[in-house]
Amino acid sequence: AVTARAVSAWFGDHKVLDRVSLHMPANEVTALIGPSGCGKSTFLRILNRMHELVPSAALAGEVLLDDQDIYRAEVRPAQARVRIGMVFQRPNPFPAMTIRDNVLAGLKLAGITCNDRPSLLEESLTRAGLWNEVRGRLGTLGGALSGGQQQRLCIARALAIRPQVLLMDEPCSALDPTSTNRIEETIHELKKDVTVVIVTHNMQQAHRVSDSCAFFLAGENEPGRIVEADQTEKMFSDPADPRTLDYVSGRF
Ligand code: ATP
Ligand code: MG
Repeated sequence: AVTARAVSAWFGDHKVLDRVSLHMPANEVTALIGPSGCGKSTFLRILNRMHELVPSAALAGEVLLDDQDIYRAEVRPAQARVRIGMVFQRPNPFPAMTIRDNVLAGLKLAGITCNDRPSLLEESLTRAGLWNEVRGRLGTLGGALSGGQQQRLCIARALAIRPQVLLMDEPCSALDPTSTNRIEETIHELKKDVTVVIVTHNMQQAHRVSDSCAFFLAGENEPGRIVEADQTEKMFSDPADPRTLDYVSGRF
């Protein structure tokens, strides 16, 4: 599980998140929803210490991975990123690297060698739902795959380092319905052993894939906050805040 406690974030003196607290349970999918610019991607990057890669970025609050603060002094940022993987909006495999090397690209960082785990390549591609399509051509370049396949390749790359948590920032926004279905099936399988947090603008998708949802909103010149977080069924049928209902029913 991942727990954010009173997380605030700034870029320079622009405050973009204000005291966001959210519990993201293990073996569940948590969807982050809300209008553009309310800080969803920023929040996601805070959960795996990518926020601090921006020179002007500042942060307050705590992020706990199974009760341990990932920001405590003895944790190196790379260690946190190995345990908490990320998949981005645009599929970004290394185009001039083979499928095999793309999947194995993060292993050195994680201190895993292929000799330790000969089945890792097949296992990661299978979990990402791509193995059957690429098993006969692992030496093909990543850039030669379709958009949907590239996104699943990126998921395989993230899974190869065996993260406890997988953060997905609009993973289907560049994809056709068939590829979107494949990724949703993958997410469904993953939650058996990975904590999944997904940002999506697609309310049907949030409804289909998530167990719980958090609705983020930023006012004009106001930082993003969570309006409401609850079980997905409750958020979509009987939310506590009228703004949530407006948003999930597309009236925003
Ligand atoms: P979208 O749905 O459009 O992806 P979002 O909810 O993911 O939006 P963020 O990308 O987290 O929103 O942005 C939140 C705020 O932080 C915005 O005002 C944005 O301009 C600002 N911001 C994001 N990244 C940076 C950065 N690297 N430098 C400065 N400001 C940034
Ligand atoms: Mg975003």
